[in-house]
Formats: sequence, structure tokens, C-alpha cells
Amino acid sequence: MYEQLKDSNTQCDLCGMKDPEGIIYRSDNFIYLCSKCMEKIKTAPDSLSETLERTLMGNVL
Ligand SMILES: [Zn+2]
Repeated sequence: MYEQLKDSNTQCDLCGMKDPEGIIYRSDNFIYLCSKCMEKIKTAPDSLSETLERTLMGNVL
């Protein structure tokens, strides 16, 4: 579950970019994704996005 936020200062956790329009998506696990990566996650199989989230959380912790 992702929530769309408007925050031009938040970087995407996946690619490190800031969305030029400041649109960023926050997951329940406080992973931030730009709209491009969000598209990738949405089209990816559930197993892949779960793996990705776990990887990103591992990096944060
Ligand atoms: Zn991104």
C-alpha cells in the first residue's frame, strides 16, 4: 500500500532521484519511491516487490 505525497525534498529510495514535480510515494514501511519506480513496482510481480522492499529496508537499517 503506497500513499502519494507531494514533497520535492524527498529522494527515491530506489534510484536516488527527486521527482521534478515533487511527487513521491511512501509505502507502509516508509520506503519512498518516485513515480517512475512506482510504475516499475506496480507492474512487477508481488514476489519481486516484496523482495525489493526487504532489500531497501535492509539498506536503511
Ligand atoms: Zn526512483
